[in-house]
Amino acid sequence: MRLAVYRAGVGVVIEDAPEPEPDTGDFLVQTEACALCSGELMPWYMERKSPHVLGHEVAGRCLASDGSGYSPGDRVAPHHHANCGECEDCRRGAEVHCSRWKATRLIPGGMAERFVIPRENLSDTGLMNDVRPQDAALVEPVACVLKSISRAGEFESATVVGLGSFGVLHSVLLMEAGANVEAIEPNPQRRRWAEELGIRSVVAPSRQSEAVFVCPGNEPALRVGLNSLRPGGTLVLFAPHEPGGLVAMDFEDLYFRDIALAFSYSAGRTEMAQAREAIRRGAVRAEQVVSHFISLDELPGAYRAMQAGDILKPMVMF
Ligand SMILES: [Zn+2]
Ligand SMILES: [Zn+2]
Repeated sequence: MRLAVYRAGVGVVIEDAPEPEPDTGDFLVQTEACALCSGELMPWYMERKSPHVLGHEVAGRCLASDGSGYSPGDRVAPHHHANCGECEDCRRGAEVHCSRWKATRLIPGGMAERFVIPRENLSDTGLMNDVRPQDAALVEPVACVLKSISRAGEFESATVVGLGSFGVLHSVLLMEAGANVEAIEPNPQRRRWAEELGIRSVVAPSRQSEAVFVCPGNEPALRVGLNSLRPGGTLVLFAPHEPGGLVAMDFEDLYFRDIALAFSYSAGRTEMAQAREAIRRGAVRAEQVVSHFISLDELPGAYRAMQAGDILKPMVMF
């Protein structure tokens, strides 16, 4: 079968690979749709994972089941990591810090014609027969955004910094939840995309909000976010900064503005369940956040285009 691999120093290549072999209790999936995550564009992150089969925003149809509760033909949307649900970290809600979570993965990954969901991951694999594959593939990124939004607690006004695919997802889901949203984005092409979805966007902040979501993982975006935050508000950092990236902050200012800083890394079983429900009720559709529906062969070019900021987000339709 064919799959997409990131190779250090080379980039994304399409290769032939052996069919994945399900073990007892695992099940095999025929991939239908898999989107490229902006997290897979960060060179420092990909270089250390290389060689890495891309793809964790994925949906497909069960090909062979082994008494797992799914039948052949069922459409599923798994998380590539699954927490155990029983340990102390899981019980206190820190699901992504469960030791089982990081030890689990899809084999070989989502950007492959077929993949195996190991039995440990079945606890975070949902049935999505009632929605289109391109929407089902967005369960994982929607879960990450729902977690990010929950980190800010109660608020009415929100600022989203950056209108890449995750900024658009934040804006759409915040508006669906009834928040008054202002999005900040200098790129006119991205602002146009957002305006068509009814997202109010500006080049520079016109106000301060109770909650701020900073989507790009860099210092200028963080500074824009801090300037957009009302005293007593919460700023959520959605993406990682580069390793060792230090940011100087005026703690006297942060202290007297009574600001809360929060981070939001990935998502666990709780948010995945919320995301499946959000997608079923139509809170977000693939066309709102995916700009290019492509074939696997087009992925290397689309990867470079997304990295350059020329396209919003590609999704491979298998
Ligand atoms: Zn991702
Ligand atoms: Zn656990």
